[in-house]
Amino acid sequence: MSLRDRLITRIHSDGPISVADYMSDCLLHPDYGYYATRDPFGTGGDFITAPEISQMFGEMIGLALAQVWLDQGQPNRFALVELGPGRGTLMADILRAVRGVLGFLDAAEIWLVEASPVLQQAQAKKLAGHTPAWVDQTADLPDLPLLLVANEFFDALPIRQFVRDGDGWRERRIGLAEDGLTFGLAQRQAQLALAHRLEDTRDGDIVEHCLAAAPVLRDIGTRIAKNGGAALILDYGDWRSLGDTFQALRKHAPADPLDAPGTADLTAHVDFEALAKAAACAHTRLTPQGVFLERLGITERAQALAAHAGDVAQDRIVTEHRRLTHPEEMGNLFKVLGLYPENGTPPPGLTA
Ligand code: SAH
Repeated sequence: MSLRDRLITRIHSDGPISVADYMSDCLLHPDYGYYATRDPFGTGGDFITAPEISQMFGEMIGLALAQVWLDQGQPNRFALVELGPGRGTLMADILRAVRGVLGFLDAAEIWLVEASPVLQQAQAKKLAGHTPAWVDQTADLPDLPLLLVANEFFDALPIRQFVRDGDGWRERRIGLAEDGLTFGLAQRQAQLALAHRLEDTRDGDIVEHCLAAAPVLRDIGTRIAKNGGAALILDYGDWRSLGDTFQALRKHAPADPLDAPGTADLTAHVDFEALAKAAACAHTRLTPQGVFLERLGITERAQALAAHAGDVAQDRIVTEHRRLTHPEEMGNLFKVLGLYPENGTPPPGLTA
């Protein structure tokens, strides 16, 4: 039986499902889920992420986190955490970049939050030589100062979609048509969590709501407020989400999200305002990834790498630098939000 057949059977017996329920099954169903059953990254896969484009990305993040550690008095133990580490490339680049920061690695406990067994294996392999530990959720992390990074994690969390109708909202659901799955709309209802969106939307507008994100941010923020540290959250999205951003990618091209469930990456833009509001600590201004990386010195790093490279490698470094930073590539679409202790200083590259 395919995941599509299972979903059809489920909808037959229980009725239409939310976009969030659909996304959860497609991404993380233990037997059919996209992430649960494969490694989707790279040129041969379905999509490519910043750490897979260039080592410079992880190096900049690593040095920014090390600077936070220095600024906060070099705590002798802390949790170095990544949410959704994919192949483990970002963490590997972070760990390599900070080798020169005396005492940092000795103080670091490496924790990875990863739901996919296949990707956990890839991470273990990539990080051989270090001793990472895995947890299912941030609530299971130790009670220590926290230095955390999440790149393209929150866009993979399930979202619900609502269409404005007068003073209420109709949820977009997935039901059955003659030839398979189709979108439909539930009855109009009030939605407490969307009360603030009655101010900036009109009839017919679509608003997305990620139920799973707030508890994660609340937990991270509480830890930073209590024990110190910082978090860097990088993803595509904006301060406030508006419109339908639910999308599928297969082999680097957009696909129909309802086609062949479980075989394409499904994402939605991140609503950074919701993340910032849920965190019980200070947050930075939402900053474009290109600006953030430039402030951290990615151009100098690219020049240093290019100085020792042959012609082909030099061209590659220039292309990679451009992809990560240029406003027409990932520089503007991707944003960075930093979390830090109230009365503390924002992480390097970001402003209050
Ligand atoms: N950060 C990596 C991978 C991004 S893809 C990179 O930039 O390359 C999203 C990652 O989040 C994958 O590792 C996926 O398995 C993981 N993931 C998705 N939903 C998750 C959840 N609910 N809990 C834990 N990990 C999850």
